[in-house]
Amino acid sequence: MKLSEHFTLAEYTTSETAARRNIDNTPKEVLIINNLKRMAGVMEEVRLILGKHAITVTSGYRCGELNAAIGSKHTSAHVQGLATDFICPGYGVPYDVCKALEPHMERLGIDQLIYEYRRWVHLGLRDGPRYQVLTINEKGTSAGIVL
Ligand SMILES: [Zn+2]
Repeated sequence: MKLSEHFTLAEYTTSETAARRNIDNTPKEVLIINNLKRMAGVMEEVRLILGKHAITVTSGYRCGELNAAIGSKHTSAHVQGLATDFICPGYGVPYDVCKALEPHMERLGIDQLIYEYRRWVHLGLRDGPRYQVLTINEKGTSAGIVL
């Protein structure tokens, strides 16, 4: 099932952890599916900003069980289908991707743009977005995109 022109439900639900632990990570609620479509719509804009290079979703939707299994907070936007962890090597490293997206936070309604230091980019949506830009590295969480 397609969520948008270039993003599929499978990309948003496939998880190694879920497979290993036999967790069914398929969303059942219409609300979640609609959130995922909204998320994918924003990712279409991200794709254009990043020069249409291929985007690899490393974590999208997480049901409560999967989210707990990977040790994430239950308040995570991933549980609502409103977050995407991704990389875009054709454009650059995650730092470059964050720098490219930062000027578009308000236009895209991004609640949180998180530079997961040298690993991936987390992009989260929410009604009433806070437009937060953060870096998470081995020292903790800090404001802005920190090299
Ligand atoms: Zn994330």
